Amino acid sequence: MPYDTQNVFGKILRGEIPCTPVYEDEHVLAFLDIAPQAPVHVLVIPKCEAISFDDFVTKPPSDVIAFFTAVRTVAHHLGLQESGYRLVMNHGDDGGQEVAHFHVHILGGKI
Ligand code: 5GP
Repeated sequence: MPYDTQNVFGKILRGEIPCTPVYEDEHVLAFLDIAPQAPVHVLVIPKCEAISFDDFVTKPPSDVIAFFTAVRTVAHHLGLQESGYRLVMNHGDDGGQEVAHFHVHILGGKI
């Protein structure tokens, strides 16, 4: 299945629909989830075209390392490193993935 450039996170990356950003660097964009499932619910997405975890981890290792390092940076930026947080990645239909652009959910606060 090819990457669908019309997915909602692709549109957010291109600035075609708005988001509430919390962090951005050359590799990632992080923004508030529109339907939060925890007091803190942030989505981190890579700027490259990747459908899901299964696809993303086949990208160059330096890109994968940069992405997950940025996820850590975002968690620290949100002040969650002491209190703790949950990371969620959904892959495919049975995994409950709704948006076909790879993303990590950061869930913090009282989950
Ligand atoms: P998934 O089920 O694919 O792992 O998670 C997709 C997430 O994207 C959901 O938590 C959903 O609330 C969020 N979401 C869907 N559409 C939008 C949107 O347009 N803006 C933002 N900020 N989040 C969205």
